[in-house]
Amino acid sequence: MPHFIEGRAIAKKVYSELRGEIAELTKRGRTPGLSVVLVGDNPASRAYVRSKDKMCRDLGLHSVKLELPADTTQNELLARVHDLNGDPAIHGILVQSPPPKQINEAAIVRAIDPAKDVDGFHPANVAKLALGDKSGFVPCTPLGCQRLLIESGIEIAGAHVVVLGRSMIVGKPLALLLMRKGRGGDATVTVAHSRSQRLAEITRAADILIAAIGQPEFVRAEHVREGAVVIDVGINRVDDPSVERGYRLVGDVAFAEVSEKAAAITPVPGGVGPMTIAMLMANTVRACRQSSQ
Ligand code: NDP
Repeated sequence: MPHFIEGRAIAKKVYSELRGEIAELTKRGRTPGLSVVLVGDNPASRAYVRSKDKMCRDLGLHSVKLELPADTTQNELLARVHDLNGDPAIHGILVQSPPPKQINEAAIVRAIDPAKDVDGFHPANVAKLALGDKSGFVPCTPLGCQRLLIESGIEIAGAHVVVLGRSMIVGKPLALLLMRKGRGGDATVTVAHSRSQRLAEITRAADILIAAIGQPEFVRAEHVREGAVVIDVGINRVDDPSVERGYRLVGDVAFAEVSEKAAAITPVPGGVGPMTIAMLMANTVRACRQSSQ
């Protein structure tokens, strides 16, 4: 039986650490504040925003949920972002992705004050990650994957990590994070993507295999070396008429067969997912702390 890496339990540990820090900041009159901006009524985005807001409130963070109509213009959204940049009670700003099509998302991200960019998508923060400058913000999902490995006692330094996927949200920042010098880094990283040839050969060379491709159960036993650690970032809906809601969630990894070979593996749901939101909260607390320095 492999070790199941329980994201929910590790996220709980993160929250209990954060509660202490939040209480201390609040005592000094500096409650960390997060504003999540939602444009339009995409149901999945709405659910994400709701859970971020709920988690903020549960932790005692100041939470401002801005819900804007689907026909909000670029300039209107930019004006809201500028207001939040100037609001001293707000330390973190996040514009929920994907916005409606009239919005230029990259321009919105560039308008966010990098010191409040708790998503870590602003070019200044991407550059800091690439430069190995630890003062910037790192995107939450890669940070969550790294934390899962650290908390599970899995040695990252010197390990061969294969990251499947090269998106700016997960694959690319994750590769940069794990190859960074110092604690939680120093890995030998290979990044593979949809144009990679002989993929199974590459993934079988991994001590730690991280799948972030958005392809349900793509990673099979043949992709995994006996004794490897497998982190599954994927969250995919697949039709399942046997359940009431008509679908179930699966990862990018065929969990049952890969579990038979892996030394440790994350489940979906309950693996990386809970860590992403925990890292958003951690980044917000850090933004608050840094703003008062
Ligand atoms: P993207 O679609 O932006 O990127 C997918 C990446 O996977 C691309 O680099 C693509 O290659 C690569 N890819 C796609 N198909 C294959 C394949 N058959 N073989 C090898 N590489 C492939 O997705 P995201 O990075 O945003 O998300 C990935 C997954 O992670 C999704 O399931 C998403 O839902 C999930 N996710 C989960 C989060 C969480 O909190 N747990 C947070 C964010 C995402 P190419 O570049 O060549 O197109």
